[in-house]
Amino acid sequence: MIAEPMPAEWPPISRPSARAWQQGLREAIRSVPELLAVLGLDAEAVDADAADLAFPILVPRAFAARMRPGDPRDPLLRQVLPLRREREATPGFVADPVGDLARLAGPGVLHKYPGRVLLIATGACAVHCRYCFRRHFPYAGELAARERWAPALATIAADPSIREVILSGGDPLSLGTPRLAELSEGLAAIPHVRRLRIHTRWPIVLPARVDRELLDWLGALRWPVTVVLHANHAREIDDEVAAALGALRAAGATVLNQAVLLAGINDTVEVQAALCERLGDLGVVPYYLHLLDPVEGAAHFAVDARRGRAIVGRLRERLPGYLVPRLAREVPGRQSKTVLA
Ligand SMILES: *Cc1c(COP(=O)(O)O)cnc(C)c1O
Ligand code: SF4
Repeated sequence: MIAEPMPAEWPPISRPSARAWQQGLREAIRSVPELLAVLGLDAEAVDADAADLAFPILVPRAFAARMRPGDPRDPLLRQVLPLRREREATPGFVADPVGDLARLAGPGVLHKYPGRVLLIATGACAVHCRYCFRRHFPYAGELAARERWAPALATIAADPSIREVILSGGDPLSLGTPRLAELSEGLAAIPHVRRLRIHTRWPIVLPARVDRELLDWLGALRWPVTVVLHANHAREIDDEVAAALGALRAAGATVLNQAVLLAGINDTVEVQAALCERLGDLGVVPYYLHLLDPVEGAAHFAVDARRGRAIVGRLRERLPGYLVPRLAREVPGRQSKTVLA
């Protein structure tokens, strides 16, 4: 695998008083008319929903800049634009499709699979994805980062079967690096923890998050670290994102990607192959391709399992085995994700 050359001065040096990624989030687009104006689109023509929503629009300008102006079917736009169609009820599409609320082992600690726990570190994200299975999650009472992580750390310390801690959310990199360092210091005192994983969309959406402070923290951790990104389309990965992914690898992280199979966005062999090739060129391994979790408001994104299997079968004929993602779905109550192809 050949990584793209990194610019000599990557990452930009940021002082704690002027973190570029926090500025990027502050300046993000938070209204439907504003996003449509940036792209030169008409609300009626795209079925946009400009009402105040419980799960409002959030799109950093760095991400919007990768959308094609004037294209209502742009695959990046469709991931983030609220549509009136989201209000339609569809049988089988529910608020908590994967049964997470029933599986909390402690505050913000999800223990569904043997050997690993998933920390709902924070509810905040760099972007709001309309298909998100946690779009209705009652984050307020369930965050692992509260009380300086103490209740979550106590839950992990009490169970020696836990070998791996997965930081998730929301998006754990929405927390500042000092908060993450508090957690890693706490985990370092728990001998049975052997691996750390970070599930994040920040490096894709707002690559300025991958700054010197984050890389120094990552590089100094005592465990093997895996960063699992979330990109659904090759066009999400521009040169700045590519440089950030290179910097994560240079800091010693294993970098994987998970995608969601989304109707009208990435449900063709060509689009999936382009994504996997782009990731492979950057030394990132496609890990999972998830079937949509049936969350209320997202039925229009669903792609059935048969079509998913056909796409992955064709990918296998075109790509090296390590660049073909596992097609998976989450079946509530099982001990692992269910791999379909
Ligand atoms: C998806 C998930 C994991 C991670 O599963 P892997 O197959 O190890 O990637 C862990 N815990 C929960 C609750 C999950 O939903
Ligand atoms: S970044 Fe992840 S957790 Fe956040 S809205 Fe998107 S899919 Fe959901």
